[in-house]
Amino acid sequence: QSGDLQGYAPICLGLEDFYIRRLYNRIQDCFGRPISSAPDAWFDVVERYSNDNNKTLKRTTKISRCLNLGSYNYLGFAASDEYCTPRAIESLKKFSPSTCSSRVDGGTTTLHKELEECVANFVGKPDAMVTGMGYVTNSAILPVLIGKGGLLISDSLNHNSIVNGARGSGATVRVFQHNTPSHLEKVLREQISEGQPRTHRPWKKIIVIVEGIYSMEGELCQLPEIVAICKKYKAYVYLDEAHSIGAVGKTGRGVCELLGVDTADVDIMMGTFTKSFGSCGGYVAGSKEVIQYLKYTCPAHLYATSVSPPAAQQIISAIKVILGEDGTSRGAQKLARIRENSNFFRSELQKMGFEVLGDNDSPVMPIMLYNPAKIPAFSRECLKQNVAVVTVAFPATPLLLARARICISASHTKDDLLRALEVISRVGDLVGIKYFPAEPSKQ
Ligand code: PMP
Repeated sequence: QSGDLQGYAPICLGLEDFYIRRLYNRIQDCFGRPISSAPDAWFDVVERYSNDNNKTLKRTTKISRCLNLGSYNYLGFAASDEYCTPRAIESLKKFSPSTCSSRVDGGTTTLHKELEECVANFVGKPDAMVTGMGYVTNSAILPVLIGKGGLLISDSLNHNSIVNGARGSGATVRVFQHNTPSHLEKVLREQISEGQPRTHRPWKKIIVIVEGIYSMEGELCQLPEIVAICKKYKAYVYLDEAHSIGAVGKTGRGVCELLGVDTADVDIMMGTFTKSFGSCGGYVAGSKEVIQYLKYTCPAHLYATSVSPPAAQQIISAIKVILGEDGTSRGAQKLARIRENSNFFRSELQKMGFEVLGDNDSPVMPIMLYNPAKIPAFSRECLKQNVAVVTVAFPATPLLLARARICISASHTKDDLLRALEVISRVGDLVGIKYFPAEPSKQ
């Protein structure tokens, strides 16, 4: 360890799962407080500048303006936007911040109807239902779609909202190795015999759940292969596009567009509005019959207050910009920029010798730290140089697979990215996380 890093906790390797939680607690003890409140290592309370598309965070504990590499602001629609913001303000005046009602008790405004039509059209499905929160979309929909006697096969790294929904459904849950179609097929084959008609199988229905881009891995789903396997075994496909809708694909329509999958082959398309659209809420899109069924039965539709009207208006406006319906080419430019920025940043990090997970085109870029003691070190040293990064650790990742997760935005300029790379490179040397030899720079 270099002198600057003295005081960061040491780490033991090779412990059984049982001890992991205790080890983590021990590491927290070393800091004398939970890791998440180690001094100066986190931007736990922030202010935002409303006029720079969420590009900077002002930490309230220390007056410093940091480049924001942490928010899921993929297209830069968060905070002010020349098309979206005035319209959201108008809708606030017209409809108020909240409908104070569920969708079925007077909480359906003209905006909610327009939003559902707009989302269905954007994702390429006949119908859609929107809810007030992305997390709740998964956790409330799954128990309505499947129950006892059903089989849910879930990617091992699916988001907690999916895990929660799967557990609450009462269905039998099986997990397949992360993003590994051959293992999915093995699990399916174990559960059913090939070629049997659906009615002869031991399961009332089978749903396979995957994500478009994995939020902790930055990886694109192996969707074409997974869809082909689901077709072969007559299983339904449920796709969570929280991190891919709006962020990838030629016109921002997500992984189906990017990977050439027909949306007719994905039965349930779920997503959130908190990433690419700079808003709040979640959606589920599917056939008219499925969506109607969900609207009659899903507690998130029946018993929860509907999406806030300004949030709904923000989403409608953002989709219009993406599709060029605002009369400009800003949407296309944002899509080109997020792709360019992501691919540039990823390849520069790799050239520097960092271990970066994920695929090209993905704006989610985990930089592996491994050692949990390096988590606050990395975060703090970046913050000192006014770059705000998110670090992810146990229990969101296995204990020894800690990482920093960079989220790239279309609102980052080339200068922003160059400055961030310079800082991350310096901090990477200091903390000791360049695990590969650097490529010689071309002058
Ligand atoms: N699904 C995935 C894959 C996510 O990563 C998240 C949150 N980041 C959610 C669902 C929940 O979405 P929200 O934060 O919009 O509630």
